[in-house]
Amino acid sequence: LSDKLSGILDRLTRRGALTAGDVDAAAREVRRALLEADVALDVVRGFIDKLKERAVGVEVIKSVTPGQMVVKIVHDQLIETLGATADPIDLNAPSPVPILMVGLQGSGKTTTSAKIARRLTDLHKRKVLMASLDTRRPAAMEQLAVLGQQVGVETLPIVPGQTPVQIARRALDAGRLGGYDVVVLDTAGRTTLDEAMMAEVAEVKQAAQPHEVLLVADALTGQDAVNLARSFNERVGLTGIVLTRVDGDGRGGAALSMRAVTGKPIKLMGVGEKLDALEEFHPARIADRILGMGDIVSLVEKAAATIDAEKARRTAERLRKGQFNLDDLREQLEQMLKMGGLGGMMSMLPGIARMKNQIAAANVDDRIIKRQIAIIHSMTPKERRTPDLLKASRKKRIAAGSGTKVEEINRLLKMHRQMADMMKQMGSGKRGPMAGLANA
Ligand code: GDP
Ligand code: MG
Repeated sequence: LSDKLSGILDRLTRRGALTAGDVDAAAREVRRALLEADVALDVVRGFIDKLKERAVGVEVIKSVTPGQMVVKIVHDQLIETLGATADPIDLNAPSPVPILMVGLQGSGKTTTSAKIARRLTDLHKRKVLMASLDTRRPAAMEQLAVLGQQVGVETLPIVPGQTPVQIARRALDAGRLGGYDVVVLDTAGRTTLDEAMMAEVAEVKQAAQPHEVLLVADALTGQDAVNLARSFNERVGLTGIVLTRVDGDGRGGAALSMRAVTGKPIKLMGVGEKLDALEEFHPARIADRILGMGDIVSLVEKAAATIDAEKARRTAERLRKGQFNLDDLREQLEQMLKMGGLGGMMSMLPGIARMKNQIAAANVDDRIIKRQIAIIHSMTPKERRTPDLLKASRKKRIAAGSGTKVEEINRLLKMHRQMADMMKQMGSGKRGPMAGLANA
């Protein structure tokens, strides 16, 4: 998608303020990216409306296209919407602070309970007790006990035959008596949203009055994420969301959906099966994933700098493949101007030092570089890609358009041919002098 998107966006290369047309064109692609990332349709709609409102009229940073500029705004808006919490778990309540973990079966509730308990113990030096209210699966309570041992956190002794509410009450009593700071209550989930699960969780909540109610949800959840989050929020009431399996290769659209429909913060994210694989929520990471185009975003971020690193990288890529058209030459010439002439250019592009003679022979100075750039500007995109098209009549047109002479155009074309030949030679070597260009 990234390639497809940047391809479309690259065509919009005018400078100035973003127009409604620019934003619409980019918004169509952004909409597709969001839907591909499994962001819910309603959420996508609201997001795009807001984007249009804020993007039109924004000044485009030099050296990026309007499309890329829109992407940067989209990225910022995503991060903003996803939000970050300074203080993931709120413990600002009388001890023991009850934390209720809810979610579908297999979402990672039990694992996350142990991860959070570990975090509170190690990082915040709290005394934590965990209790499993999962009376449905026989092995569930054992699972939590085993994880508790692994992280050095105590679990409530198992008493067969108790209801979830009874276990919750017993856990809080034990927490009070044992001088615990926090009691983590791990509930049973079902494979699908159903009334029985909701009723049970609501009942437990009523009994335990938890200070935090955390919805544990798999980052790979698709369009169901909205229903999931909305149902739990309406029926039980959430204080936050923990996103699990962020280490997987899902696009993470669920995060945006859940955040948008509940308004509740995503507090933490699980990034692996290991019990220390829990991190504070990084909205930028999820935003990159949803868009699937961190490269363009960082390009826009770097664009304020003199050198457009991404362009250089792309150019270098083409150069290495032995492609060097007049657009590339113009880019090189523009960079030479920006960098204050040949000296700076040499230091940036290791391979280009070998072209010193060609450039010197062409008698390049700032004034000439500017005329050369003007010549290339007067060509059509097709001519720039295929200089062989440039016969006499076209040259005349270009000379008139750029206020230059046909001889100058010929000199430029000759320089280009020599450079292109050299690029090809250098590019054909596996690790030739141009290899370093990619990192320039
Ligand atoms: P529960 O049914 O909601 O209690 O889910 P579990 O805690 O039993 O987790 C189900 C599976 O998901 C287990 O194999 C966990 O190791 C795994 N799991 C939980 N969180 C993560 C995570 O952040 N990343 C990965 N890769 N696996 C996870
Ligand atoms: Mg479980």
